[in-house]
Amino acid sequence: MAKATYRVCTLPGDGIGPEIMAEGKKVLAAVGEKAGVDFVCEDHLIGGAAIDTCGSPLPDSTLDAAKASNAVLLASVGGPKWDSTDPNAPRPEQGLLGIRKGLGLYTNLRPVKIYDALAGASTLRPEVIKGVDLVIVRELTGGLYFGRRERFYDEAGAGANGGRGQRAYDTMEYREYEVERIARKAFEAARKRRNKVTSVDKRNVLETSRMWREVVHRVHDEEFPEVELEDLLVDNTAMQLINRPADFDVVVTENMFGDILSDEAAQITGSLGMLASASLGDGVSLFEPSAGSAPDIAGKDIANPLAQILSVELMLRYSFQMDEQADWVANAVRSVLDDGWRTVDIADDATPADHVLGCTAMGDKVVEYL
Ligand code: NAD
Repeated sequence: MAKATYRVCTLPGDGIGPEIMAEGKKVLAAVGEKAGVDFVCEDHLIGGAAIDTCGSPLPDSTLDAAKASNAVLLASVGGPKWDSTDPNAPRPEQGLLGIRKGLGLYTNLRPVKIYDALAGASTLRPEVIKGVDLVIVRELTGGLYFGRRERFYDEAGAGANGGRGQRAYDTMEYREYEVERIARKAFEAARKRRNKVTSVDKRNVLETSRMWREVVHRVHDEEFPEVELEDLLVDNTAMQLINRPADFDVVVTENMFGDILSDEAAQITGSLGMLASASLGDGVSLFEPSAGSAPDIAGKDIANPLAQILSVELMLRYSFQMDEQADWVANAVRSVLDDGWRTVDIADDATPADHVLGCTAMGDKVVEYL
């Protein structure tokens, strides 16, 4: 039988991007060899590297290649070289926004998992964070960040406020189909996990939230009745994520609430170099580490490649439906950590010097454990 072949568009980007991408690809190739699947990776330009070469942070050739692939694996973009006060200068981050928009990625999925071996890095007590393994599913293309906004001078307000009469508003708007499709992504993710969804809103105040809750429940009742569904107000969620984070499985919410809660949840781990994320739509999906291009450590072979490797795990799970192989990667990372291997950012005083690995050696170690 012919081997299955998947085409992966790889975007190394800037800073530590190329270094951690090399380790992600190494792990993907090892999984392919073991599983009898061909992953064909093709590098394309994005971010500052693309500005330097073609004058644009997202050349058409990159977007075309991404659209023609089975999945996109991105490392990171940006760096001081491209910081500019000129508002018309191209910025690396435009490449990120452009590719998310170009691929129609309306879901951001951020797993937050505590590795027992790294529990000491969290600011929360070990008994609180034990067993934390949750995913924040954030709506990415609607809500307050995309609604109508305006700032203007209001004659009527000026007198009463000592002459200062500015007014501004932003609008939070959702359409039913936008809530339906993100709810579906959350329930589908829950089916791959522990079958529980927490839907977060502010129903006691916002009309968008009242519609949100209604639609989430309809999608649940019609299509995913076997998944446990609970509702939580966003302010309460912010507290419960710190109080009892291990109780959550999949948390789904609108754009701004998700922006804030995903950063809060990420902090539970205390290890930035460990966090991967997936952006999903109805076509090609994109996988990337949550952290940036770390220009301060670029080129030194000391970056932590594990978030990139865990992005590969997400790609196997969500783009290729290769759950078993995704588990191989997750288990290899866990075992590497359990056996005390660290990169410098996650090492502590108890780590023996010969267990602190560089970026390349950490990639090799994960492959060895696979
Ligand atoms: P950053 O995430 O790049 O770095 C923050 C700190 O974490 C640094 O000390 C860095 O050394 C460390 N760090 C990050 N990733 C690491 C890893 N894999 N291993 C070890 N240490 C790691 O954030 P920043 O310094 O605020 O931003 C640097 C550049 O990255 C900026 O140009 C920013 O715009 C860009 N950025 C890009 C993305 C992205 O590509 N998705 C996200 C955030 C920031």
